Amino acid sequence: MDIVILGAGYGGLRAALDLDERLGDEPDVTLTLVDKHDYHQFRTELHRVAAGTSTFERVRIPLAELLRETAVQTVKGEVTAIDVAGHRVSLRDGRQLPFDRMVVALGGEPEYFNIPGVAEFGLTLRSLNSARVIREHVEETIRRAAAINDPRERAPYLTIVIGGGGLTGVELATELADRCPRLVKEAGLPAAELRLLVVEAAPDILAGFDPRLVEIARRRMHDRGIEVRLGTPIQAVERGAVVLAGGERIPTHTFIWSGGVRGNRVVEAALTTKARGRAVVNAYLQSVDSADVFCIGDCALALNPRTQQPVAPTAQNAIAQGRVAARNLCALYHGEPLIPYTAQNFGVVASLGRGFGLAHLDGYGLAGLGAAVLKDLVTWKYLFSIGGTRFLWRGLGRAGSAAEQPSPAVPK
Ligand code: NAD
Repeated sequence: MDIVILGAGYGGLRAALDLDERLGDEPDVTLTLVDKHDYHQFRTELHRVAAGTSTFERVRIPLAELLRETAVQTVKGEVTAIDVAGHRVSLRDGRQLPFDRMVVALGGEPEYFNIPGVAEFGLTLRSLNSARVIREHVEETIRRAAAINDPRERAPYLTIVIGGGGLTGVELATELADRCPRLVKEAGLPAAELRLLVVEAAPDILAGFDPRLVEIARRRMHDRGIEVRLGTPIQAVERGAVVLAGGERIPTHTFIWSGGVRGNRVVEAALTTKARGRAVVNAYLQSVDSADVFCIGDCALALNPRTQQPVAPTAQNAIAQGRVAARNLCALYHGEPLIPYTAQNFGVVASLGRGFGLAHLDGYGLAGLGAAVLKDLVTWKYLFSIGGTRFLWRGLGRAGSAAEQPSPAVPK
């Protein structure tokens, strides 16, 4: 039996490791993990790479290293189509992979809501490569500002606008606030000329968070010199400017879009999807189109059985779903009953720059250094879960010298 796992993110990797544990010794089972990269990346740390406060090496692990003691084979290739009825996956380079059963864990994509110019001019933080692009763009734009004598003319080069004040936007803005003032000073310019702005359409940032924590986050952002514009949808983005509802134009050469996510378009083309392109699944995480296809993580619309609400597209949920998919594939193989997915409440842990975090767990809120330490502990726990003690060094604080290291080439 050929079991193919699409995507080596949090959910896909967990499914692959668990399937290896459960079925890796079965002689008639092949396990194949497909990803366009030959490494696993920790998306929860990307904001630090984008800001230049962490390095590439800390947030990626080669799949060969991760899977070296397993029966999982890896295929490097970009999935372009899934033929569910024909049990076949197409890759960009023309290869076709047959499968008997499959786990689709291809992740999500930015949602642009058809706002003019956002996709064309906006940077996004969705992968290690996009984090590299942001870091290099910010550094280069600040360097270019230093060559302009007139402060008014250089202002757009020193203005960074982040569209969307969800967790992605807030984590990135606070991380940029840690590094960019130093970059501006190093360029020989007054740090006060840097303008970091988060524009949020909703009445407040961090929708769904405990209001006390939101208040703390707003204060922290204010203290770090970040302007927050609330209740202000971005209406359009042009070359060199962001246009807000009401028509105000903010001249900028750096616009980062963190306004929302959607399911993967390859999944949308192949399977029944709902709610921004996420695959509709049953209680066991099987696609409603085929019992042989399990869908997990950001590309799936798993429901919390108690509330019937979709669970959030987070790393913790993807990992939990990866475990369930592996267990159910094993059950199918042995002809045993499947187990339903029971959504757990993992809480939220976020970083707001160096030494400051926010955590919301089991109804308790925590802000400050304790929450930042908690975020690091979560990373360590994760590293341990995928590789024992082998990869723990990657979670050791942040790289103080990251800014000085050249960016290695990262394939798209
Ligand atoms: P999100 O959907 O959570 O937030 C997007 C924000 O952009 C919203 O506040 C929305 O109101 C705003 N927005 C939308 N259109 C806008 C417009 N035109 N102008 C201005 N603002 C606009 O997206 P996200 O922050 O990328 O998070 C995606 C998922 O990933 C969430 O489930 C989140 O919890 C998770 N996440 C978790 C962590 C963590 O656990 N530390 C970090 C990042 C993301």
